[in-house]
Parts: sequence; structure tokens; C-alpha cells
Amino acid sequence: MEKCLYDGKVLYAYQVLRDFEFEQKIRKCQTLTCCDCGASVFFRHGKQRAECFAHRHKEKCRYGDYCKKQSDIFKFIQRQLAPIMEKIATKHGFQLEEDVVIIQDHYTAFVIKTSSKKYAVDIIDYAATSSTLEKRKNLYEEQGYLYLQITVDKDVEEKPFSEREMAYFPVKFILNKSLNNTAIVIDEVQRKWSIYILDKTDLSEGVSGNPSWLENDTLAMPISIDEIDINSSGFYSLDSYKAYLDFCTQRKNRRESWFKAEHDHKNRQRKLAEESCKLAELVTQATMQQRETDEKAEIRRIHKLSGGYVGTKVRGEYEIFTLEQIATNRPSRNWLNEYTQQDFESYISEMQQFKYFGARMLFAKMCFITPMEISILLNLWSTLKTSDPQTADAIEFLMCKAGIHF
Ligand SMILES: [Zn+2]
Repeated sequence: MEKCLYDGKVLYAYQVLRDFEFEQKIRKCQTLTCCDCGASVFFRHGKQRAECFAHRHKEKCRYGDYCKKQSDIFKFIQRQLAPIMEKIATKHGFQLEEDVVIIQDHYTAFVIKTSSKKYAVDIIDYAATSSTLEKRKNLYEEQGYLYLQITVDKDVEEKPFSEREMAYFPVKFILNKSLNNTAIVIDEVQRKWSIYILDKTDLSEGVSGNPSWLENDTLAMPISIDEIDINSSGFYSLDSYKAYLDFCTQRKNRRESWFKAEHDHKNRQRKLAEESCKLAELVTQATMQQRETDEKAEIRRIHKLSGGYVGTKVRGEYEIFTLEQIATNRPSRNWLNEYTQQDFESYISEMQQFKYFGARMLFAKMCFITPMEISILLNLWSTLKTSDPQTADAIEFLMCKAGIHF
């Protein structure tokens, strides 16, 4: 038991060891009594066992039963916290009590209070269930207490983690329901203290996926237990509070760089797409040019072999017409517009490439030609006589057949 009555006042076990003479006195004292049943108790403190009070005889006592049922880790925490709570109480001018019955059938490990403010501190080990915690919170609040908890966990977290992945209910409960979203946690085996603080700022807007800075919303860091203090929101430590502010800033900064990287990535993707589109266009152009070059070469080859002008491809074979054949096929009426210099040039160019269509169109025009057109044609023809005598001769042949006299 943490406390007993001595000279009509509450005496705590941890207070006894502070003064050797006082300890000797309490060890011999026969008038210590149980706070609950009033039976005689004594002080004990061995190598194995932490200091405490115990009934001299087996008694049916609610407080005695409660103390017997406590787990080792529970006792360890209460013993470690006692001087810390005393320090906090002294600093703020609070009154401190241990093992107080505020809500029915439950001993509150520590109560610190002034006339205006009251805190109930519970130690939460594996005996506590989720519904117990909810119930207790409501009961404490009804009594005007702010509910604070110290929790035990199997493994304390060492780096920022996702609150959503925190499976241990009491810690989750505190992170979400305490005013400052802060949990003080002790590792069950290693007995190391940590503080967790949840950053509840919603940073998810416009973010796709679960980047680590978004996912890990809870700061975790080791603390020395005597750093902790209490303010109007609950437990905190100066160092961890500073670290928490840094943590929040870091998350915001990482969010900004994430957006920037996303933006850059999209731009890069867009540029790549544009470039590959351009490349594809170039390839198509090159293919078409190659096809044209091949076709020209093929037509030139056919002309060289046959001396004819080459028409369209029919079933894989080019049609071939001699100048004689072209000149035989006279149009029955004038179905062509008036030709400009450009029209003549374009059909002459086709003839230079030995294409049937150019020759045929020129001949058709020659059959129904105006004086203006004749003058353009003759002009071009006389230039060709020097630059391309072969085509000039072919045109001359067609003009003769059409009946143009010059
Ligand atoms: Zn008792």
C-alpha cells in the first residue's frame, strides 16, 4: 500500500525513506493504520520489494486487495512518478494525494488539485479495457476532473508513426481524446519512457497516395520522466514540445516539396510526351520522304528501261504510256481551266519525273490552248531546251501532235 495514517495524517511510503532517523522511527511505529479499514499496518522495505505499507494481520480490506492485485509495472510506475508528481504539485501550488477514491470501486493513482483545478492521473496497464477508459473519462469529468493517463506498452515507438496503425487502444484513446493529444508511455520490459504527440492538422487535401510525411502523423521521442510537467491541457515536456513544433513544421515543409515534386514530375511527363510526339512525327516524315525517293527512283528506272511515262500502280505493276499513246488520247472538249505559269510548271515538273499524269494534263491543255497560255508554255519550253533538252523534246513532240505551231 502506498499510504497509511500516521498521527491522524496521511503518510506516503516514498516519504519515509527521505530521512534515516524518520525511517527508523516509522519502522518501529506501532500506531500506523490502514486508510480504508483502520487496521494496524507496518512499513516494509526490502531488497526485492519497494517501500510500502502492509496489514499486520490478514484483513478483509478493499484498499489492501486493490494493492495486492497491482501488477509489478503498475507499482514501478507509481513509485517512479511519486516524486515527479510531488515536484509538479509544489511548483504549481497544487495539493497531491495518492490512491484516492473519486469514482466508485476505483483508486486513482494520483490526484493533484487546487480549489479551481483538479487532475486525476491514472496508470493504465493491460488490465484496462477500452470501455473502462471511456467510462472513467466520463465519470471524472462529471466530478470536475481533467483525466490524465500514464500508459504501459509492450514496445515503445522510437520514431514518428501513424496514429491509425497504433493498435494499443489506451494510447490511441489519449492521442485522440486528450486536450493536447499527448501520451506518456513506458516500455513494459525495458522501462524506458517516451512521449507521443499526435499532429491533428489535416494535410491530406490534394494529396494522392500515402506519402510517409502524411502517414506518420505522431511524433515519438524518448524522455526522461522528470522532464514532464502539467499544464491546462495535460502532460507535456518543454523539449518534446519544441520537437513537436519542429515535427509539424517539417511535415508542412515536406508537404510543400511533395507538391513541388509532383508538379515538376507532371511537367516532365508532359514534356516527354510532347517530345515523343514530335519524334514520331519526324519518323513519319522521314518514312514518307524515303517512300517518295524510292518511288521516284523506281519510276526513273522504269522510264530508262521502257522510254515511257509511268502511271499508277495497278496490282503491283506500274502502267506505262509512250508519248505516242499519250498524244493519241485527245480530249473531246475543253474541260480544263485556264492554266497559269504555276500550273504549267507543276505539270512540266511531273514530266521531268517521267510521270504520265503531268504529260497527259499538258497534252489535254495543248489541245484547247489560248494565245496567252501558248506564250507561257513556249517561254518555259525554250528555257528547258538548255536545262533539260530531253523534256523539251517530249513537250515539243506533244505540241506538234496537238497542232500548236511555233
Ligand atoms: Zn485496510
